[in-house]
Order: sequence, then C-alpha cells, then structure tokens
Amino acid sequence: NLSDRLRDSFKRLRSKGVLSEADVDATVGEIRRALIDADVALPVVRDFTKAVREKAYGAARSQALNPGQQVVRVVHEQLVEVLGGESRELVFAQRGPTVFMLAGLQGAGKTTLAGKLGKWLRESGKTVLLVASDLQRPNAVNQLQVVGQRAGVEVWAPEPGNGVGDPVQVARSGLAHALENGIDVVIVDTAGRLGVDEEMMQQARDIRDAVNPHEIMFVLDAMIGQDAVQTATAFRDGVGFTGVVMSKLDGDARGGASLSVRGVTGAPILFASTGEGLDDFERFHADRMAGRILDMGDILTLIEEAERKFDQDEAERMAAKAASGDLTLTDFLSQLQQMRKLGSMKKILGMLPGMGEMREQLENFDEREVNRVEAIVRSMTPAERDDIGILNGSRRARIAAGSGTTVTEVNQLVKRFEAARKMMKHMGKGGMPDLSGGIPQ
Ligand code: GDP
Ligand code: MG
Repeated sequence: NLSDRLRDSFKRLRSKGVLSEADVDATVGEIRRALIDADVALPVVRDFTKAVREKAYGAARSQALNPGQQVVRVVHEQLVEVLGGESRELVFAQRGPTVFMLAGLQGAGKTTLAGKLGKWLRESGKTVLLVASDLQRPNAVNQLQVVGQRAGVEVWAPEPGNGVGDPVQVARSGLAHALENGIDVVIVDTAGRLGVDEEMMQQARDIRDAVNPHEIMFVLDAMIGQDAVQTATAFRDGVGFTGVVMSKLDGDARGGASLSVRGVTGAPILFASTGEGLDDFERFHADRMAGRILDMGDILTLIEEAERKFDQDEAERMAAKAASGDLTLTDFLSQLQQMRKLGSMKKILGMLPGMGEMREQLENFDEREVNRVEAIVRSMTPAERDDIGILNGSRRARIAAGSGTTVTEVNQLVKRFEAARKMMKHMGKGGMPDLSGGIPQ
C-alpha cells in the first residue's frame, strides 16, 4: 500500500548521510508508483512528483543533513498543498435560510452526512430542516427520518400537498416551509445511483435550480479508489459542486481519492466523515490527511517540537542512568515533565509513526491514568522518590491519601517501576535501545 511503499523508500534515505540527485530520482520514482497504486489520478501524480522532485533537488543541493527527513518534509508539504491547505468556512445566507444540497452516488454517505451536519449545526445554535428529496429507494425517506430524529432536527418528508413522488417539489416546499418558520439551514438529501447516469444528473440539476443552494456538497466514498476521478468529474460537469466531503475515512482507504479529487476538480474538501455515528466527522484538515496518506502522523511536527524542547543532554544522562539500573522516581518525574512539554500524551502517541493500526488503542488511552501516576510520585518525599525501598505500609498509605489514590494504585506503580527499571538495566547491557527509534534521523 501507499504508506508502506513511501515508508520503505524513506527508510532507505534515512540511512544516508547526504542526499544525491540520484537518490531523489529513485525516491520520486517510488512515490510515483505508490501514488498510482493508491489510485491517485495520473495528472495529479505527474504534477505532484514534479513538484516534489524540484523541491527535493533543492534540499540535495543545499547538502542538508538528515536527507530522509528533508524528503519527508517536502512530500508532506506538497501533499498539504495539493489537498488545499486549510479548509475554508462554509457559506451561509446573509438573510433567510441557508441551503446545503448533498450529491453523490448511492451509498456514498449523503443521508448519514445530513444527520451529522444537522446535529453539528443544531449544537452550534442553528435550527435545521432535513429535506428528503431522495425518493428513489423505498426506504430512503424513512432512513432520513430516523437520522433526523437521532440528530434532533426536523425532517421534511413528502406528503400529499408537498410533492409526493416529486423530489424537486419536495425540495421546493421544504425551502418554503423553512422560510415561513425562520429555519436557519435546509439540508437537501438527494438520490444517488450506483453508477453515474443522465437521469440522476438531470434530477440533481432540477433540485439545484429549484432551491439555489449556498453549498453543493459532493459526498465521496474514500474507498471508491480509481473511480473517484471519473465520478467527481461527472458530478462536477453534471451538477457542479462547491465542496467535497470524504466519507468512510475510518476504513482502510489511505485517502488517495482525496488527493485525486482535489487535484482534478480543485474543489475544496470540507469535511471528513469517519464512521456511521453522527459525531463521526470533522472539518477536513489537509495536514492530517497528508499525515494519513503518509501514515506518519504529524511526525515532522513531533521532530520539530522535540528538537526545540527536549534537552538532549538530559536525555543522554537519563539513558545512561537507565542502563546502569540507577533510575529513580525523581528521574521518572523529570522525564514526565519533559514529555508534557511536548504536549499531551495522546498527542505524542498520535504523532508517532505506524499508529494507523493503533488508532483504536489510542482512543482508549487514558491521560488521566498518567495524571494519577504523576500525582502519586508528587506525593512522595524526595527521599522516597530516590529510594523506593523505604516505602513501607504507612508511607504508602500517606502517599495514597496525599495523591487522592488508593494504596493498591501506589503498590501497582511501585511494582511497575521496579519491573521497568530491571528491564532497562537488562537492555542496557547490550547497549541502550534507540529511544528515538522510528523517527527519521
Ligand atoms: P447515501 O446513499 O449516500 O445516502 O449513503 P448513506 O448515508 O445511506 O450511507 C450508506 C452506508 O454507509 C450506511 O450504512 C452508512 O451507515 C454508511 N456510512 C456513511 N458514512 C460512513 C462513514 O463515514 N464511515 C462508515 N464506516 N460508514 C459510513
Ligand atoms: Mg441516502
């Protein structure tokens, strides 16, 4: 897959001292193949690799250190650029209801998105009406009603008088209803087909012309792969859209489709949908998507922050101490403080490479646990931190009370620390493990 291939080629660069133009060419070749494999459209691949090559040549000529890092940086920057940088704000009406129309193939995630947007807008204080202009599938109206109920927003369904059987009339009457009742945002859900067809495009155009949307959001399933460009251009030419929503980004797709669509249509990507639940979506962030495509998290940010804030000498001193088995809880506390300087623990874990598979564990990661550990160590006297051997029962009870924890938790911490110290000493005999392992040098 894309990220594995990129990682492999970066790994090769990482071991080199300086970067030659031949290295750049080889890596760019890898990147091209990786992008093509990830179903990124050819013209986008071409532009992308051209820009990367030029920038990386610059890095090679400057004889910069850390060539692997330089190239990762160039690739990352270029990805962010093609993906469109920061996503823009949504367009709202100056007066009267704002209309968002959703378009896309069947199963893309339009109806789900209607609920997500509805809930999100409602929570930001707006009143919302979901309009059921998908009359294609028997259950489509009902599905929108269920979604609307979960989102806590009103749903406009076809009834006698407002356009049974006529999606355009339903949209028109829904907008009129919103206007009369001072509803802020109207979200029009439309029908999709499994493939692009002219009848569907015509219907979407008719709905568009009936309600004059402020935004037409083209919803695209991230798993669609090589068809992304053809589908997106068909919708661009057939209906037109003002923005793209990538759905199903919780799946395996690395996001090559977002690169293609953005590169080919130039339309901004507005949202990223990441699950079936109504809260599973977020504003699109190009840098996050670039990180996802590279599967390296915000690794460059981590490197920069670490370089800035982490005291290298302190780290080396600590490593030596760990190797000799002399590490104390005082050291541990100072390490913890160093780590905190880098940001929250969750953020740190999220920035480490290869976290793609660990996303779920990351979600379960409990920062409060780390806070508890810190509280326990802080409740110890300096003498206790330097020698956990003196921690008898009454000291442990005092520490538990002082840190708002239990004696069991204090015992667990002491046990874990002793085990970790032993392990580090053991590893220290064969040389300390590289603590920065996995981060390009
Ligand atoms: P529509 O035909 O475009 O209206 O698509 P739906 O909203 O009905 O979604 C089709 C299926 O995809 C449903 O089973 C949704 O629950 C599911 N779905 C929609 N968005 C996402 C998403 O971001 N992630 C996942 N995993 N499933 C999604
Ligand atoms: Mg639908």
